[in-house]
Amino acid sequence: MRADTPEPMIKQLPLLALVLSPLCAGAVPAMAQQDLRNLNDMQKAAMSDDVAYDITEGLVTEVGHRMAGTPDEARARDWAVRRLNALGFANVHVEPFQMPVWVRGKEMAQVTAPVPQDMYITALGTSGSTGDKGIEGEIVYFPNMSQLIAAPAGSLNGKIAFVTHDMRVTQDGSGYGFAGPARWRGPNFAAKAGASAIVIRSIGTDQHRNPHTGGTTFDEGVKHIPAGAISNPDADTLERLVALGQPVRMKLVLTPRDMGMQESGNVIAEVAGSDASLAPIVIACHLDSWDLAPSAFDDAAGCGIVTAAAKRVMDAGQPKRTIRLLWAGAEEVGVFGGAAYGKAHADEPHALAMESDFGADRVWKVDFHLADAALKDEIALALAPLGIERGDAHAHGGADVGAIIEAAKPAVIDLQQDGTRYFDLHHTPDDTMDKVDPAQMAQNVAAWTTVLNIVANHDGAIAPEPMAASGEM
Ligand SMILES: [Zn+2]
Repeated sequence: MRADTPEPMIKQLPLLALVLSPLCAGAVPAMAQQDLRNLNDMQKAAMSDDVAYDITEGLVTEVGHRMAGTPDEARARDWAVRRLNALGFANVHVEPFQMPVWVRGKEMAQVTAPVPQDMYITALGTSGSTGDKGIEGEIVYFPNMSQLIAAPAGSLNGKIAFVTHDMRVTQDGSGYGFAGPARWRGPNFAAKAGASAIVIRSIGTDQHRNPHTGGTTFDEGVKHIPAGAISNPDADTLERLVALGQPVRMKLVLTPRDMGMQESGNVIAEVAGSDASLAPIVIACHLDSWDLAPSAFDDAAGCGIVTAAAKRVMDAGQPKRTIRLLWAGAEEVGVFGGAAYGKAHADEPHALAMESDFGADRVWKVDFHLADAALKDEIALALAPLGIERGDAHAHGGADVGAIIEAAKPAVIDLQQDGTRYFDLHHTPDDTMDKVDPAQMAQNVAAWTTVLNIVANHDGAIAPEPMAASGEM
């Protein structure tokens, strides 16, 4: 994507000067001074928002963890319907779908040689079972994924693969893309090479003895071997034991079970727009979570943020476009909710898709996949007072809007959150309410309110880059 207006200039000028400056004169016809005042008022009010915090606190306290397709997620859906109705949204309903459900069992890991050590482990989603008695085997160490991928068929027969990585803290979360494949695909490659099980270094950046769970995917026909993540300090220990140069043996007990096809559901709610000829905007979060924690960051906070912002726009007066909330019912274990939404709504026009699924820390950057340069200018200028810079990356949305983006080709805007501490908490028992900073969460609400207020009242075409679609999508 090309870079747009130089950011430093935007950040240093007062907003009013920018509105009047040649930089955007004529380019931002919708930014009348009255509108700007309203927007400023809305931003200011949103900076002390407590609706997002209340939703997040309610969900993690009154429902707790909520694995997709389980009775816990069903309770979460009921809770969501009640809360969204109470907040005054229209058309609140559940769109059910079927999905395969996997649940955790017993979890134990122990190095048995050369020096006995207990380790903290958690099974990865879709992991196979060791059986109650467990298995024991020799560790084969892979310092990175490339070496595991290269392991020949049969070379790991009867062995337990151990793959590590070097994930670092990054503000934009890019360390996840680098290290993530060890979890997403490591078990598949270990199984193909004949391993009886695999342990991975947790995909995380903390130094607590918290293993990070998460999904893994086996190719069709590949055996689902037992697959677990050990905590980062335990992975350090295991690497040091390997470095001693003697055979390292481990005993594993992981007894997860497949529960077959079960019902999950997406919770939908709307702010009805005044002009039915304008395509709606979909804003998403996911209602489900892993089972190790009440999962305030992932993703109760996202549901709180997008919902609080939509409510603020609704309460300011009926917008022109419909804003549709998608609280996706199943993201963590395979994005079944987003897929179901994409399938059910593929033929409906969607102007814009957005998602909040990266915790509750502040928004620092906005990225676009949006054709209208003037509209991008308007949004970037309006976000600048919140300390949000304009990025030049291509906006992708999130997992739950992936299928509808593919099907309906809407524009996309990403409000990028600070991910510095996200992967300390991600998919661990530490993802609890105390991690949510109310001030940073309110800044998210202010950013979302700002964007939604502009786009939901924009009656010009909203279309993705690089070329305006034929007609509005
Ligand atoms: Zn998430």
